[in-house]
Amino acid sequence: MTTECDCLESGPKSRNKEFIGVDKTDGRYGDVSVLTCKDCGRKWLHYFVEYEAFRASGRWFEGLLPDDLATPLIAETAVPILDALPWYIRGGSYFEPALRGTRSSGPVPVNLSGRGGLPEAQET
Ligand SMILES: [Zn+2]
Repeated sequence: MTTECDCLESGPKSRNKEFIGVDKTDGRYGDVSVLTCKDCGRKWLHYFVEYEAFRASGRWFEGLLPDDLATPLIAETAVPILDALPWYIRGGSYFEPALRGTRSSGPVPVNLSGRGGLPEAQET
């Protein structure tokens, strides 16, 4: 296993994906999966959500999955786990192009509005 891997900068590009479930907290439908980087074997928690009626609402977050989780990993615990990570990679049409594929931290903006989401989303 290599210690440095490109996935640490932009998330695993070459990966195996294991689907965990759909997070319906707050009425969203977030796809939760675990990705395993084929280059280094690191496990990543992947969260994707979009709001079909809204332009530029698609967003994904990928964070290194800790070895010792405080709570079992199910769809509903994915967001609290990501929130607590030192950093995660974010992407999707929701973010400015310059921010896609970059690290961020803090509460993941998974909801359409509030909780770090768009103050007023534009309806298409
Ligand atoms: Zn890797």
